[in-house]
Amino acid sequence: MMLDLRAIADFPARVTLEDDASRLDLAASGLAVSGMARVEMDIVRSDNVYYCTGTVECAGRLDCSRCLEPYPVTIRGEIDFSIIETAGGAGFDREAIADTTVVVPVGASSVDITDPVREAILLELPLKPLCRESCRGLCPYCGINRNEQQCNCTMETTDPRWDGLRDLWK
Ligand SMILES: [Zn+2]
Ligand SMILES: [Zn+2]
Repeated sequence: MMLDLRAIADFPARVTLEDDASRLDLAASGLAVSGMARVEMDIVRSDNVYYCTGTVECAGRLDCSRCLEPYPVTIRGEIDFSIIETAGGAGFDREAIADTTVVVPVGASSVDITDPVREAILLELPLKPLCRESCRGLCPYCGINRNEQQCNCTMETTDPRWDGLRDLWK
């Protein structure tokens, strides 16, 4: 996702950006995005530093951690990063700057803000995605989706060694 700083005449500024969400490279996160990612942010300038705060929103699907079925989600993340324009040189130390900060050469027009936007979305992804709070998951014995069908496995099981496991699935 690209931001064109030169197109902004006055600061502070509010900008809205849209880009194909698949360009945010989120596949490894388990989120299968669809459509556009939309960024709305305020940019405050102080000399060669641009402070960006706002939100990013994108839609997609996650796989439920209990029943393994995909379900639709809208993810809304908080944007909070800086862009630093620098000519480099002896006084400049990249290590001293936060990883989320985007560093660009002085006068750069297009700034790639893909990384901080991706981070904002990743922070909002649930560790254990659930299609719904009450998802009943898969039967541990026969594997059917208990949201859709019923089985008699639990009732038929009398072996006490399974009790602990059965409790986990209640
Ligand atoms: Zn589920
Ligand atoms: Zn079953």
